[in-house]
Amino acid sequence: MRAIGFSSAARKLTSPRLPAPGPARIGPGHPLGGVPTDTSRRAPPRAIFDNVSNNGRFAVPDTEVAIIGAGLSGIGMAIALQRAGIGDFVVLERAGDIGGTWRDNVYPGVGVDVPAQAYQFSFALNPRWSRVFAPGAEVKEYLDGLADRYGVRRHVRLDTEVTERIWDEGGRFWRLRTPAGELTARFVVSAIGAFVDPKPADIPGIDDFTGTVLRSSAWDPGCDLTGKRVAVIGTGASAVQIVPEIARRAARLDVYQRTPIWVGPKLDAPIPRPLRRLFRRAPRVQEAVRRIATRGVEMVLIDLVVGHGRAPWIAHGGARLARSVWYRTQVRDPETRRRLTPRYGLGCKRPSVSNTYLRTFNRPGVSLITDAIDRVTPAGVRTAGGHEREVDAIVLATGFRLASDPEVFRRTPVRGRDGFDLATFYTEHRLASYEGISIPGLPNHFMMFGPYGWVGGTWHQLVETTSAHVVRVIQEARRRGATAVEVRPEPTERWTNRMRDRLAGSLWATNGCATANSYYFDHHGDTPYLRPTSAAQAARAARTFPLDDYAYTVPETTALGDPASSASPASETRPA
Ligand SMILES: Cc1cc2nc3c(=O)[nH]c(=O)nc-3n(C[C@H](O)[C@H](O)[C@H](O)COP(=O)(O)OP(=O)(O)OC[C@H]3O[C@@H](n4cnc5c(N)ncnc54)[C@H](O)[C@@H]3O)c2cc1C
Repeated sequence: MRAIGFSSAARKLTSPRLPAPGPARIGPGHPLGGVPTDTSRRAPPRAIFDNVSNNGRFAVPDTEVAIIGAGLSGIGMAIALQRAGIGDFVVLERAGDIGGTWRDNVYPGVGVDVPAQAYQFSFALNPRWSRVFAPGAEVKEYLDGLADRYGVRRHVRLDTEVTERIWDEGGRFWRLRTPAGELTARFVVSAIGAFVDPKPADIPGIDDFTGTVLRSSAWDPGCDLTGKRVAVIGTGASAVQIVPEIARRAARLDVYQRTPIWVGPKLDAPIPRPLRRLFRRAPRVQEAVRRIATRGVEMVLIDLVVGHGRAPWIAHGGARLARSVWYRTQVRDPETRRRLTPRYGLGCKRPSVSNTYLRTFNRPGVSLITDAIDRVTPAGVRTAGGHEREVDAIVLATGFRLASDPEVFRRTPVRGRDGFDLATFYTEHRLASYEGISIPGLPNHFMMFGPYGWVGGTWHQLVETTSAHVVRVIQEARRRGATAVEVRPEPTERWTNRMRDRLAGSLWATNGCATANSYYFDHHGDTPYLRPTSAAQAARAARTFPLDDYAYTVPETTALGDPASSASPASETRPA
């Protein structure tokens, strides 16, 4: 088996040994306030951990599960816990509201770029989507509705950023540092999303600009760009949505492009009221539509990439068709069209859809600028050729730091067992995981979106699959009376190697992606973004993976409270 770095040498950093915690549970006196204790009617008694506490050697953490992040993943995970009868959990959210992506991205034109029928949970269909591609505000409304309907809000602690996660081997729980104080949790689920932080704008002079600077992910809805001269920097998926909207109202628009994006037609339309009524009355019909839409998205975003070797003509033919028909009908000026057309293969970078983006470049007053930016001046943007264009506002649509970026975990460190440090691991080793969820060295810790973790066509499939896996492990830990659960290195290496092998013949490896500048590629040159299996296989794996792929540490007091005779504080369970 090819080793991928989970030897003890990979965990050499110093492990902060912290004082043993007190047994206090979060309540009104806790710095994080009165988090409800068990709120689920179906929740079993907390006998296991209480007995552990009675042993006197292991303190009870503040909460059984802490979910970090209250976006789509955090809310979905919270619902899964509730449905499994695990009611003792908190959701820690750094912002002042829930909703993640759909709370932050409120720029003009924001919306899903997959059909909304696919962008919803299978257990919570929304018959009210107004369009095939729903606007962002409707997604936020959907998430708010879910949080209300499933009683998630009372578990959420807003304005609570987790700045550090530290595994406490003595107590067998996680210490989560937040500006409001420390919280201890037996299990941690990281639901911080794929696009964790906006990339810092490393454009010289940006701080000296005297006009308005807007970010796609932190839009100021009060800022009116009507009649203004505007520069948009970046041409990714957000820019594809923003640019046509700004062009409509700005006096002049300059779009600065480093890498062009493949943009296909958007088969969008309002969903007629009678159809919405039908969805409300016959959810089975809507469920059938959801399945078809989800499978369709999966075919485009996954099958095409993973199966490229078997049918390269699809991506090549698609690119040829786009170039010779679609781009021709959209962009009048041949030179502008040439510059808007990617030279890398279709699929190397996440493609987008729009019926207005490419056409925007036909408008008078809209310029596509492909010269490299030299710097921002107090009055505008200067390119490497020395040409300066004055503007009143600059819109930064320059992308995000992904969850695979070590920098994210340098800012908010994750320190596991025996000195394992996630940022160091991601820097020094190729990314790896078990089922896209767990990593050796991080006991009792799960990632909603880990390496090779993007399941299926839309995020909801990922959340439903991952949460099923996490719930299974927590339930098994409860059953065995284990206080620590850590995925074993061998199944992790086996699984990761399988994923890498499957990607070796993928479109990303073979379709001329070198110039794509795509977030699918990480800092090692790997493509650990998606899970190269079908969503159905991933869902099956979540239900059936061998539970002994995890090692369980059971305190020497059994769940029934019998003190064990051994002097050692804990033992690893043998396979059940
Ligand atoms: C503009 C845009 C459009 C998109 N469109 C689509 C689409 O059409 N289809 C699709 O499948 N995907 C799309 N995506 C991807 C989208 O991010 C996912 O679909 C999904 O919303 C991710 O949900 P999440 O909860 O995992 O992450 P997020 O929505 O990013 O939520 C993560 C949450 O964690 C919080 N958080 C992060 N770090 C901490 C911390 N240290 N402490 C406490 N809280 C923290 C954040 O504040 C945030 O609320 C889009 C993304 C963007 C940016």
